[in-house]
Amino acid sequence: AAMPVITVDGPSGSGKGTVCRLLAEKLNWEVLDSGAIYRVLALAAIHHHIELDNEEALVPLAANLDVQFPIDHETKSCKVILEGEDVSLTIRNEEVGAAASKVAALPRVREALLRRQRAFRTEAGLIADGRDMGTVVFPSAEVKIYLTASAEERAQRRFDELNGRGLDVTLSGLLADIQARDERDMNRKVAPLIPADDAIVIDTTILNAEEVFNEVQKILEQAV
Ligand code: C5P
Repeated sequence: AAMPVITVDGPSGSGKGTVCRLLAEKLNWEVLDSGAIYRVLALAAIHHHIELDNEEALVPLAANLDVQFPIDHETKSCKVILEGEDVSLTIRNEEVGAAASKVAALPRVREALLRRQRAFRTEAGLIADGRDMGTVVFPSAEVKIYLTASAEERAQRRFDELNGRGLDVTLSGLLADIQARDERDMNRKVAPLIPADDAIVIDTTILNAEEVFNEVQKILEQAV
């Protein structure tokens, strides 16, 4: 069985989510949003009053995490259901993102989530979005893409998105959040954020979503 995989890794705000959504539509493949799994775990830890560095308690929580990703036919994206509750919006706030990067730094927590992530692989094909998809979770993926952009540009994108939704945020605050998260994700001991040796790196700083997607399509054409 082929079970082809395309991995898309990179820091937050690099445009992975958009690329993965467009690719999934074009190829009609499944998507694994691995960041959502770490976010859900962090939220579950907060709900259960577990400290974000308590590896002993977080490992069983990760192993038994009651999470579902049913497709929402209206928006064509996945909902995120934790212990029966729709947390699709809650997990997207910056507080949960920061908490996710803390639990994600724990080696045994990452290990406990490996099988769950690999189970997303299907005959139809999978697009895997994350930090270590090409390096750890799917090292034999057919195509590996690594998206990056300057921290300033990623903060600006996040600002435009949140400000557009009427949220009270500042550019300098978002930049500080992004830099703190980059620092944790790139410098942790296990599965740090780094391009796989065989990944193709795209700097999206001066590209819009359409231009990034065109670059990715060129890479796919060359890969087959
Ligand atoms: O991609 P997203 O911002 O949703 O990820 C939230 C956090 O989860 C990241 O900052 C990172 O620390 C962690 N993560 C990870 N490995 C992945 C995906 C996400 O460590 N494959």
